[in-house]
Amino acid sequence: MSVEQSIAHQSLDEIRAQALNEIKTAVTAEDVQELNTRYLGRKGVMTQVLRTIANLPAEERPAAGRQANQVKQQIDTACRETLARLAAGAQHLERLDVSLPGRSAAPGGLHPLTRITRRICDIFTRMGFEVVEGPEVESDYYNFEALNFPKDHPARDMQDTFFVSDDIVLRTHTSPAQPRVMEKRQPPVRIIAPGKVYRCDSDLTHTPMFHQVEGLLVDEGVCFGDLKGTLTAFVHQMFDEQIKVRFRPSFFPFTEPSAEVDILCVICRGTGCRVCSQTGWLEILGSGMVHPAVLENVGYDTRRVTGFAFGMGVERITMLKYGVDDIRKYFENDIRFLRQF
Ligand SMILES: [Zn+2]
Repeated sequence: MSVEQSIAHQSLDEIRAQALNEIKTAVTAEDVQELNTRYLGRKGVMTQVLRTIANLPAEERPAAGRQANQVKQQIDTACRETLARLAAGAQHLERLDVSLPGRSAAPGGLHPLTRITRRICDIFTRMGFEVVEGPEVESDYYNFEALNFPKDHPARDMQDTFFVSDDIVLRTHTSPAQPRVMEKRQPPVRIIAPGKVYRCDSDLTHTPMFHQVEGLLVDEGVCFGDLKGTLTAFVHQMFDEQIKVRFRPSFFPFTEPSAEVDILCVICRGTGCRVCSQTGWLEILGSGMVHPAVLENVGYDTRRVTGFAFGMGVERITMLKYGVDDIRKYFENDIRFLRQF
C-alpha cells in the first residue's frame, strides 16, 4: 500500500465517522441540509476527496474510488434517515392538543407533625412563652451535666444516646435550650423549645429521631400550682375543654418534685382500650419544679427564684390527636397517608 493510499484510507474513515456522528445528532432539518451540503455538495469534502483520488497511481484508483463512493452513500443515507426521524417528531408535536387543560401541580400541605408542633407553640406563645431553638449536635455539658445528670449517674441510662465523640452527642431532648437561655438572661424566663431529638431506639412506638417541645418558666414565687394551671390550660386547648387531667408522681433528674401528666383516654373515655393499655388514661407530658441544682448551674439565686419545666413528644400528641398509633407512618412519606390531614 502506497503512502498516499494509506492517507486517503485513513482520512476517509475519519471523515465517515465524523460526518455520521454530526448527522445523527443534528437537531433540526436545516442542520441536516447544511451537513449534506458540507459533505456531499459541489465544493464539499467528498468532492475534494475524489479529486485527490484522481492523482493516485492508476492501479490504486479503482479501490480508493469504490471506498469513497461507499462513504458518500452512507452519508447520504444518514441524512435521509435523520430527516425522516425529525419529520416524524414534528408530526408527533403537531398531534398534541394544546387546548387540553394542563396538569396543575397538586397543592402541598403541612406535615401532621409540623401542624401539631405549630399548634403547641401557638398555645404557649399566647400564654406569654417565647419560642427558642438550639443545636441538634450538642455538648455533653448542655445535654446532661447542666441539667443535673452527672457523669456515671444512672439517670443517663434512661436515654439511649448517640455519641458523636466522648463529649459531643446528638441531643436526647430539647432541654439543653434551657441552660443555654438561662446563662444569657436573668429571670423572668418563659421559653418553649421545639425540635428534633435523637435516641438509639426503634420499634412500633419509637423512632431514632423524633420531635419534642419542652418548656421552662422561672420567676419569683413560681409554685406547683402554676405548673398545674399552665399545663391543664394547655391540655384543654389542645384536646378539649372537658377532658380530665391528672398529675402522677414521677422522677426526672432536672425536676423535683416531678410529675407525669395524664389525660383521660381520648379513644375510650376511661373505660379501657388497646391505646391506653386498658388503664383509661394516656400519658402525654413530663413535668416538674426545676431542680435547684439546674438553677445554680446557671448562677441563679435559688432563694429568690423558682421555676417549672415540662416536655412532650410531638409524635405522641399527634398520634392521640389523629388516632394513628404506628409512629413509623409519619416518616414513610406515603403521600396517601399524609393527604388525610
Ligand atoms: Zn382507652
